[in-house]
Amino acid sequence: MANLEFKVFWDECIRQIRENKIDEAEFHLWFEKLIYHSYENSMLIIATPSRFYKDQVISRGYNRLIEKTLEELSGSQIRVDFIISEIRDEDGEPAPEPEKLPPVNNRENPPSSEDKRISHPQLQTNFTFRNYVIGNNNDFAVGAAKAIADNPGKTQYNPFLIYGGVGLGKTHLMQAIGNQVYQNNREAKIVCIPSETFVNEFIQSIRTNTQNNFKNKYRKVDLLLLDDIHDLQDKNDTQEELFHTFNALYDFDKQLVFTCDRPPSELKKFNDRLKSRFQRGLIVDLQPPSYETRIAIIKKKIEQTNYNNEISLEVIEFISKNITSNIRDLEAALNRIIGYSDIVKKDITVDSVKNLLQQYFSVSPQSSVTIGKIQKSVSEYFNVSIMEIKGKKRTQKITFPRHVAMYLSRELTDYSTTEIGIEFGGKDHTTVMHACQRIDERMTVDSTLEPMIIELKKIIFS
Ligand code: ADP
Ligand code: MG
Repeated sequence: MANLEFKVFWDECIRQIRENKIDEAEFHLWFEKLIYHSYENSMLIIATPSRFYKDQVISRGYNRLIEKTLEELSGSQIRVDFIISEIRDEDGEPAPEPEKLPPVNNRENPPSSEDKRISHPQLQTNFTFRNYVIGNNNDFAVGAAKAIADNPGKTQYNPFLIYGGVGLGKTHLMQAIGNQVYQNNREAKIVCIPSETFVNEFIQSIRTNTQNNFKNKYRKVDLLLLDDIHDLQDKNDTQEELFHTFNALYDFDKQLVFTCDRPPSELKKFNDRLKSRFQRGLIVDLQPPSYETRIAIIKKKIEQTNYNNEISLEVIEFISKNITSNIRDLEAALNRIIGYSDIVKKDITVDSVKNLLQQYFSVSPQSSVTIGKIQKSVSEYFNVSIMEIKGKKRTQKITFPRHVAMYLSRELTDYSTTEIGIEFGGKDHTTVMHACQRIDERMTVDSTLEPMIIELKKIIFS
């Protein structure tokens, strides 16, 4: 683990010691002047202000307390050593020796409830259930997530796998579980990481021959939140390791939560045994939010900014009508609009929003490019009917134009694959994803395809 990354564990270790393990006065005296120095090869170096201080910390057994807390947090054995470094206070004067510290008076400045709000180093504090808007698109997923958060490892929803397109709230929902579990039980060992980190740490552990530390870290947690597992495709050894991690946790009723950009059955180059493990619990998908949910989300996001001027319902409705792709785009649009209004000191109107969105999005709002227009242009170009393009017939004469039309709809509009599927006779979003993939693949081997797509785009925009 990198030096800086480890600092997160150190901060959390200190926080836990302060909260749970020793009294405030003792903490003040002996921990406040300990400063993170460096971390390498399972050895943490802490800077202390003097030899006296260092000797006291060791003779009081605080080094062992730190080591034990770090082991609980990271799952690996970590040794702690101290160096002496003169610490200067804000005026540049050497800081007083600890024995000369003024007496601690906790009562004078009791921590505010805000300070007391504790956050986990790997979880975003705003990714909570409270900030998650529930709509038809996600109510089942949220219900299950809340049940899990209240009883991690004890429901039949283990593992819990959330899948859906980009920006639809997978990471937020997964972390909301983490935040809730953490609020309910500060002692819970929670690991929340992107799959990429899991891969990198695994590779690093092989390189440095520290696989045992890696295993200890991941196989001894109460809640494992692993984001974007599609990033593990092709990574056979890491998948194998995750399979064993899975079993170790599952057998002890520890909760596992995963997110993925597709249903697990569609993961390519993925260990079958691991895939079948995902089926043991609950798999839910997040759909794009409806118009009404988009409005509710924008209102919630406005509440969370410190933007004080009012944003009219008309503007909110306009944004909701025009940005249908996903919640991340909705948020980005709102941030741009608020940022703009802050800079130019003007109120936000529908007209200014229209201009801003035109500038920032490749397809202008209320653009003349609709899925209908794409279907019409493609059907004329290939001389097949729109009915055929939307239908189910699978002859080459029809499937190719259908794939091209789906591909163009994905490229030229903000509609999600789910919405595009609906416009193509109620097909599944995976059919649309598959069609786009086929066109992409064909483009690499068939040099006539790209000019054809360009020509079609010209026709569509004309
Ligand atoms: P994903 O992981 O699916 O790509 P994220 O969880 O990162 O998406 O969500 C993208 C953004 O949208 C985040 O800022 C998140 O807070 C917000 N968001 C997603 N779903 C909701 C929701 N239901 N209510 C409020 N905000 C949401
Ligand atoms: Mg995500």
